[in-house]
Amino acid sequence: MATRYETAERLKSLGFTSTLEFLLSKINELIATPVDECVEWDFARTKEGYGLAFDKGRAIRAHRLALEVKLGYPLGALKEACHTCDNPKCFNPGHLFSGTKAQNMIDMTRKGRMGRLEPLTQARRNAVLDAYQLGFTKSLISEWLRIDRATVARLTSDINIDIYAKLSKEDEEDANTGDVSRG
Ligand SMILES: [Zn+2]
Repeated sequence: MATRYETAERLKSLGFTSTLEFLLSKINELIATPVDECVEWDFARTKEGYGLAFDKGRAIRAHRLALEVKLGYPLGALKEACHTCDNPKCFNPGHLFSGTKAQNMIDMTRKGRMGRLEPLTQARRNAVLDAYQLGFTKSLISEWLRIDRATVARLTSDINIDIYAKLSKEDEEDANTGDVSRG
C-alpha cells in the first residue's frame, strides 16, 4: 500500500514554497522514522513514472534525491538510484540502493521493465560476445547483426559482471575464458 500525500494546495497551506522543499522534508522524516511500505510521489512524474520535484525551474528526481540524502553524498553521473520495490513512483529511502547504469538495466530487464529480450541462437549469442570482446561498440553490433540494442546491452553487461565476479573470486585466474554462462 502506498501512502498518499497532500495536494498542491495543501502543500501551500503547510508552508512549503516548492515541491522540492516538501520532498526534502518528507525524505528527512522517512529517514528519521522509516516505514515499510512504498511512499509514492503524487506530484509531477516523468513518463517512466519517476517522481519529479521542482525548485526555481530545476527538476529533481525524487527517488534519486532520497537516496543521496540517505547516503549523505551525491550519486554522480555513473551511478543510478535503483528500487528494491520496482515501483518508480516510490521515494522511500529504505527501498533505494545505488547501482551502475549497467546493473540497473539488467535489474530492470529481469523485472520485465525493458520489454522482452530477443531470443537468440547460441551462434548469434556468440557472435555478439565475440564482436564485443574484439572492441566493437554495442550500437554497431546491434546494427550489424540486426539484434535489438537491449538484447546486445544485456548480453555484454553480463560479460562485464561475470568477469568482475571471477576477478574478485579467483584472483584474475581464467578471466579470459569467455565463459559467460549464468547460474
Ligand atoms: Zn517502494
